[in-house]
Amino acid sequence: MSHSRSPLMHNHVFKTLCINACYTRTHLSDGLKLRDVFYAKALSGANITVPHKEAAFETCDEIRGIAKEIGAVNTIILEKGRLIGYNTDADGFLSAIGSFGPLKNALILGAGGTAKALATVLRQNDIEPVILNRSANRLSFFRQNGFQSYDWDTFTPDRYDLIINTTSAGLSDDSLPVNAVLLEQLLSSARCAIDVIYGKETPFLHAVKKKNLPFKDGSDMLLEQGVLANHLFMHGAVSTDIIRPIMKQSFLY
Ligand code: NDP
Repeated sequence: MSHSRSPLMHNHVFKTLCINACYTRTHLSDGLKLRDVFYAKALSGANITVPHKEAAFETCDEIRGIAKEIGAVNTIILEKGRLIGYNTDADGFLSAIGSFGPLKNALILGAGGTAKALATVLRQNDIEPVILNRSANRLSFFRQNGFQSYDWDTFTPDRYDLIINTTSAGLSDDSLPVNAVLLEQLLSSARCAIDVIYGKETPFLHAVKKKNLPFKDGSDMLLEQGVLANHLFMHGAVSTDIIRPIMKQSFLY
């Protein structure tokens, strides 16, 4: 993505640790060409972003970890000539919400690729996710995998510890992910909230702040998914405890 902070984050780690590597961006118009582009550019690793994470899942020779259940890959590593696919968004998100303390359940607003990753990792960690999306057409993954999922017409609100915005509402406009009355009701009984969008105060986060709830934007998730991806790029040779503080410095630029 053109606004991505990832090059800065990864290159700061490589430079600080004197690793001979460089992280750059490539615009991929056709996800089916991912494999050809990876080899043509002689890459040793890659992050894949919207809308090619599902295509990346299909193209890899082997999928490891939670990416198998999510069906989407955001990190590819070249290993003995084969493409190995991982999903670090899921565990990055889990690390990011650790500071909220124990959680029983969560409402995920949105049903795109990020929502799939978050629902999967939350359920694996005994935090019951409920999915609420504007339209029904993206709910099939969730229904097939046994998640409680609703569109705006079928949803009846309950009480949720954590409210998560994974929609792109507020990314480049002033819209809320759900109508203001419903959001007010959800936030009134919630314990905390997070927006996966980073680098700006979205209308969602603005509403959360007014409720005086503990909250985060997407920066910690961005950092943590990046730390895990960087650890994979270096084939596990450098620990995440060394990578994290270095990568965090790049957020000050
Ligand atoms: P997708 O395009 O796959 O999904 C977008 C979702 O947003 C859909 O469910 C869509 O609903 C919903 N949506 C879009 N606009 C609105 C609106 N105005 N009102 C209500 N719902 C809306 O995107 P991703 O899941 O891949 O990414 C979502 C966000 O997550 C992006 O902003 C991305 O930058 C961010 N992200 C952040 C990361 C981080 O590290 N912090 C990592 C990964 C992603 P519908 O189905 O009805 O169209």
